[in-house]
Amino acid sequence: MDKQRDFVLRTIEERGVKFVRLWFTDVVGTLKSVAIAPAEVEGAFTEGLGFDGSAIEGLTRTFESDLLAHPDPTTFQILPWRGEIDPTARMFCDISTPDGEPAVADPRNVLRRTLEKAADRGFTFYTHPEIEFYLLKSSQFGEGGPVPVDSAGYFDNVPGGTAHDFRRRSVRMLEDLGISVEFSHHEGGPGQNEIDLRYADALTTADNIMTFRAVIKEVAIEQGVYATFMPKPLTGQPGSGMHTHLSLFEGDTNAFYEPGSEYQLSKVARHFIAGLLHHAPEITAVTNQFVNSYKRLWGGDEAPSYVCWGHNNRSALVRVPLYKPGKGQSARVEYRAIDSASNPYLAFSLLLAAGLKGIEEEYPLPPEAEDDVWALSDGERRALGFNPLPASLEQAVQSMEESELVAETLGEQVFSYVLANKRREFQEYRAQVTPYELRTNLEIL
Ligand code: GLU
Ligand code: MG
Ligand code: MG
Repeated sequence: MDKQRDFVLRTIEERGVKFVRLWFTDVVGTLKSVAIAPAEVEGAFTEGLGFDGSAIEGLTRTFESDLLAHPDPTTFQILPWRGEIDPTARMFCDISTPDGEPAVADPRNVLRRTLEKAADRGFTFYTHPEIEFYLLKSSQFGEGGPVPVDSAGYFDNVPGGTAHDFRRRSVRMLEDLGISVEFSHHEGGPGQNEIDLRYADALTTADNIMTFRAVIKEVAIEQGVYATFMPKPLTGQPGSGMHTHLSLFEGDTNAFYEPGSEYQLSKVARHFIAGLLHHAPEITAVTNQFVNSYKRLWGGDEAPSYVCWGHNNRSALVRVPLYKPGKGQSARVEYRAIDSASNPYLAFSLLLAAGLKGIEEEYPLPPEAEDDVWALSDGERRALGFNPLPASLEQAVQSMEESELVAETLGEQVFSYVLANKRREFQEYRAQVTPYELRTNLEIL
């Protein structure tokens, strides 16, 4: 740790860094930032930087508002969009109470705690997100809704198009920040794009997703467009998911891989999938945390609506990708419900906790979905045991409030904050008279 701190202090000096931003994330998943002068960094390492936690969504209750931010030197990076004139760097922080205890409501700490539980059983948790988002002409919109920057579709090459330049610039910036990108392409909706980050341990990936969102917003400003991670910004067009590939390693060995078994899936993998399926409804208020998230989950266009798994089946909630010979190390499962607007620290904590529970309790893996699940009738789905995911934020909250797994994983404070916050959101939403109702009701009733 000391060596890393020294490296940071030396780099600040050598590169003439003028500002160091300390980053952390609130419970909703919004990035928070405070800039300090280089001379303050050493003190921030040794003592932490004090701030009023009660001003940050979900972080504290007002009667215990003083918190300290401790920069994690392993996350030091110079921000490429701040240019050469006043170089600015950033570090992610862990949050503690004044007496040095990790803050129970710090999402990074929630994930650290859950990763430790996995480590106690000998597992490291890796994640690989495919992040979808829309590029719009602006955040302003009229009667017809937001206007996307193009009308291209899946994998389309748009010569000289905005999206192409946008992705090239973003990928370059991400690489400058030490974040490796595997793929980038135009997605199915007009103006919709996807960038896939290389797999890494879940804490690094969650940090990378927060950085990714900041990068995409910066590039959008630079290029005069508007980027949104809203789960379903356009009626009748695909939503933006964040399919995440999950795997557990024991040392250097992929614990999901077992040569010769069905789909080369180990017992650990099968119980892990069973855990994801069993707990899926309870964790959905976190993996899909907005009223709008349910417009995506129930709006078709390859978003999952039913709890089932399948081998290379894109209509399933959990997909086991095709095994490529000789690629045992890349054995993994894809969780397709989670969306691009979730808090990655909390969502990854719950995905891991659900999978670990499946392993611990040896949940049996139900039969796989072989058909297109959306094409089946309700009766057929019921007979096959494919239950629906929550259909609204309200249903998701109802399922979460019964969940011991979620309460235990998030901790009592985050658990009750999320529930109260989401109940409030649903009540506000329910009180709205929407353009849809006016259009369909006003004249005829
Ligand atoms: N946009 C789709 C979703 O909402 C996913 C499309 C794809 O398969 O990548 O999940
Ligand atoms: Mg996609
Ligand atoms: Mg995918």
